[in-house]
Amino acid sequence: MNSNDIDLIKDMTRVIVSPEAIVLEVAEVHWLTPHSPFTVWHPVVVLSPSSPQEKIEASRKSLLTRKKFFATCAECGRRSIKGHMHSESFCMSCAEVNNDIAY
Ligand SMILES: [Zn+2]
Repeated sequence: MNSNDIDLIKDMTRVIVSPEAIVLEVAEVHWLTPHSPFTVWHPVVVLSPSSPQEKIEASRKSLLTRKKFFATCAECGRRSIKGHMHSESFCMSCAEVNNDIAY
């Protein structure tokens, strides 16, 4: 797992703990304008409140493999959330730097 993935887990997933359940959520970023993002959190995995910490961490890492929320850039190979992808194949930074697309 590279450092980019660690940042994604830290910034784009979260764990909600309640007496009834442990819920793992993933951020979905939408853009009102090219400079105004807003984040919607989606509950993706629900675990029993008695789940061991290792299980919670493993489930949280596996959220990155959800194609609904994450994609890998064909140019730089970094994984990004869908909201930070310019298209299915390129992230916004590569679109801007390599493909002359301005945001
Ligand atoms: Zn890229």
